[in-house]
Amino acid sequence: MTIDLKKYVATVPNYPEPGVMFRDISPLMSDGKAYRYATDQLVDYARSKNVDMVVGPEARGFIVGCPVAYELGIGFAPARKEGKLPRETVKATYDLEYGKSALYLHKDAIKPGQRVLVTDDLLATGGTIGATIDLVEDLGGIVVGTAFIIELKDLHGRDKIKGYDIFSLMEY
Ligand code: IMP
Repeated sequence: MTIDLKKYVATVPNYPEPGVMFRDISPLMSDGKAYRYATDQLVDYARSKNVDMVVGPEARGFIVGCPVAYELGIGFAPARKEGKLPRETVKATYDLEYGKSALYLHKDAIKPGQRVLVTDDLLATGGTIGATIDLVEDLGGIVVGTAFIIELKDLHGRDKIKGYDIFSLMEY
């Protein structure tokens, strides 16, 4: 059975600011069959890459990555914003349209040599996933793939993570 996942993406014009077309995956998450269908494909991709750890950035990266880790019986590590992780961390900064932001991982989240899938709901400019990749590599992990529900082609996120394998379920 195939499901047209685009039917489960709500497009919201001018959100969060004028001129932006926001792609909202909440309808996909709310539909059990669509969520499972999307997750199954990400699981197949992760399996093909022999992944032994999944990492996703706050917050929708958790929604995408955790069910993949659960299905494969492997671990998930959350990449979090400032002040959210209680123990020793590594930090990676990335550029926003105005200013900078940062993500953190616990220092013991990844063991050197682990094969890591980095995943998020959506690839736009690639800043968020680029920082997540930096964190994993800082800890000695090997990023063997990146996976997204949606890729926004016009924002050229691919160029920012050149050299990494990219899997996305939908393109806009
Ligand atoms: P990037 O860092 O520019 O690639 O933006 C990707 C991050 O911003 C992801 O964590 C997304 O959750 C979020 N994001 C950017 N644009 C959208 C959108 O249109 N819909 C949903 N999330 C978005």
